[in-house]
Amino acid sequence: MSALTVTDLTVDYHQRGGGRLRAVDGLSFELEPGQTLALVGESGSGKSTVVRTLSRFVKPSSGRIALGGDAAQDAARRGRRAERRAYHKTLQLVFQDPFASLNPMHTVAHHLRRPLLLHGDHRRGAQLEAAVLDLLRSVNLTPAQDVARKHPHELSGGQRQRVAIARALATNPKVLLADEPVSMLDVSIRLEILGLLDRLKRDRDLALLYVTHDLATARHFSSQIMVMYRGEVVERGPSDRVILYPAHPYTQMLAAAAPDPARTRAQSAEARAQRIARRDGHGAERRESALDGGCRFRSRCPFAMDVCATRPPDLPTAEAGHVARCWLLEPRPTGASGAAS
Ligand code: SF4
Repeated sequence: MSALTVTDLTVDYHQRGGGRLRAVDGLSFELEPGQTLALVGESGSGKSTVVRTLSRFVKPSSGRIALGGDAAQDAARRGRRAERRAYHKTLQLVFQDPFASLNPMHTVAHHLRRPLLLHGDHRRGAQLEAAVLDLLRSVNLTPAQDVARKHPHELSGGQRQRVAIARALATNPKVLLADEPVSMLDVSIRLEILGLLDRLKRDRDLALLYVTHDLATARHFSSQIMVMYRGEVVERGPSDRVILYPAHPYTQMLAAAAPDPARTRAQSAEARAQRIARRDGHGAERRESALDGGCRFRSRCPFAMDVCATRPPDLPTAEAGHVARCWLLEPRPTGASGAAS
C-alpha cells in the first residue's frame, strides 16, 4: 500500500486586484514506504506550494491527498479531529531553515518533548527523557545528555538540522517531507545530512519526499525524480534516466546548468550561456501574458514550434516509466504545423 497518494491536486492563489494564479496544476503521484521521490524545480515552479499543501498550511483548490496505513484510515472513520491528529502524526516536515525552525528560548530537550507528549505514547518522567535521548542518538547527536541541555544558539547549523530531523521523527511518522533540507547549510555538511536522511529512511521504512532545486543530490539520494515547471510536472522517471537522458527541454537545461566535476570547460561555458538564456527567459515569461493556451515553457524553449503556442502537450511515455510533457515526444495533432515559431 502506498504511504502517500496525491491525485489531481490543484492549488490556486487569489491575486490582489482579482484574478487567480494556478500554483499547482493537476499533480498526481504515489510514494511507497522506503522510497525517496525528488521533486525538482527552480523557484516559482510550485514545489514549495506542494509542500505547504501536503503539510496543510495551504488548502488545495481541488484534488485528493491520502495517507496509507490502517491508522490513518481508522482515524478518518473516527471524525475530523482524530483524522487531523493522525495526519500530522503520520506526515512530518523537515524545514529548510534550521535557524528559524527552533525557538531560541527553549532547550533541545524541550523541542523534542513536545511532539512526544502530543503524539507519542510516552508518559512524563524518566520514560519521556529516555525517548528524548534516543531521538538524539538516532540522528548522531552525542553525548545526548549534553546536547539535550543546550539551546539552539549553542549548536552549529548542521546540529540544528539534526535536532529538527529528530523532532520530525518524534511522532514516528510514515512520510517525511524534506523541503530543501540542506540548502542553508555549509557545503561540507550537506552530504552528511542527506546521508542521515537516507539511512533513517531505510531503517524506518519511511516514504521520503525530497524537495530541491539541486539535480545532483536528487539523482544521488532518490530513486525517482519529478521535475516541475510553473505548477505542472513536465518530466518524471527513474533518477538516472531523468538526469542522464532528460527528455524535456527544461530538464535538459537544468541538467546542463548543474555542477558536474567531469564537465569540460567548453561544456561549462555552454551551461553558463544556458543560465543566461534562462534568466532572460524569466523576463520573457513575465512579459508574455497569453501562455495558457500552449506549452508553459515555450518562451524559453529552443525547440518551440507552432503547435506549442496553441495546444498544451500531455505526459506521454518517453520509455518505460519515464514520461515528459513535450510535443517533441508525442504525435502532433492533425493539421498542426511543426515549423519553428
Ligand atoms: Fe518546447 Fe514545444 Fe516541447 Fe514545450 S512542447 S518543451 S515549447 S518543444
